[in-house]
Amino acid sequence: MKKDAKVLIEVKNLKKYFKVGPNATLKAVDDVSFFIRKGETLGLVGESGCGKTTCGRTVMGMYKATGGEVMFDGIDIHKLNKSEKKKFTRRAQMIFQDPYASLNPRMTVGDIVGEGIDIHGLYSGQERTDRIYNLLEIVGLNKEHASRFAHEFSGGQRQRIGIARALAIEPEFIVCDEPISALDVSIQAQVVNLLIKLQQELGLTYLFIAHDLSMVKHISDRVGVMYLGSMVELASSHVLYDKPLHPYTQALLSAIPVPDPEIERTKKRIKLEGEVPSPINPKPGCKFAARCRYAKPICKEKTPEFKEIEKDHFVACHLV
Ligand code: SF4
Repeated sequence: MKKDAKVLIEVKNLKKYFKVGPNATLKAVDDVSFFIRKGETLGLVGESGCGKTTCGRTVMGMYKATGGEVMFDGIDIHKLNKSEKKKFTRRAQMIFQDPYASLNPRMTVGDIVGEGIDIHGLYSGQERTDRIYNLLEIVGLNKEHASRFAHEFSGGQRQRIGIARALAIEPEFIVCDEPISALDVSIQAQVVNLLIKLQQELGLTYLFIAHDLSMVKHISDRVGVMYLGSMVELASSHVLYDKPLHPYTQALLSAIPVPDPEIERTKKRIKLEGEVPSPINPKPGCKFAARCRYAKPICKEKTPEFKEIEKDHFVACHLV
């Protein structure tokens, strides 16, 4: 990705709240802002329930935003009419966590991959068949697989089918929602390497959602860390991994195992104390305060601003 590439996605103060009772609101995404340049991968990490998947789905327009904007190439995707929305789905696609659940068991692989081609009227007849064969080859499968069903494939192969389906309509942007979490560790790297190769060949832009921080580093140009619906730190991968500034990022990174047994043995792990607070009707102040070893009285009173503390490095912490 070129450093001066233009911004393709700009998310501004995005909010997605769910009413879960008469006086209870779950703030799944609470005032999140970021941008992604064309050809770039932005990793989004955080513990389960931090709002990263809801954020990805709201960015795609699958959930209606409670507030804020998602600008895609200058267009607010939450203000599109039906035909504009169809045009947007041609440009933006999603790859899901569970490749088996997301593939129709009654359709052949060829028809799963060809569905988007048909919806958008891109090819028909032999051209459609050739395109499907070509897509299967691009993702490391072959044309014989087109007549088979999803249950006949391994988890890694099913994720390749999901990738071929997403690529079928030639999108520019793909939200990869935990695409490797359900796969064996040995297969995870293969799928990530395939996504990197496709990005280089096709100039794709990714929002890559995951909780495995080591794989996120491998694929991402920049990484955002979410905690209880809020973005707490965002920086280029090497800066975030070498010099994390938010206490939550520091704790997450300290838990990644290191291959060298000597370093692993002597490495200091930061143990997160306390319970994860509920995202329903969150208390004022820093959401991480109950578990933060540096918390001060101000942390429970005032929400820290998500501010740029050096070029392209954003942190939400009173002490940074
Ligand atoms: Fe910890 Fe306070 Fe910073 Fe929150 S604002 S991360 S509680 S030091």
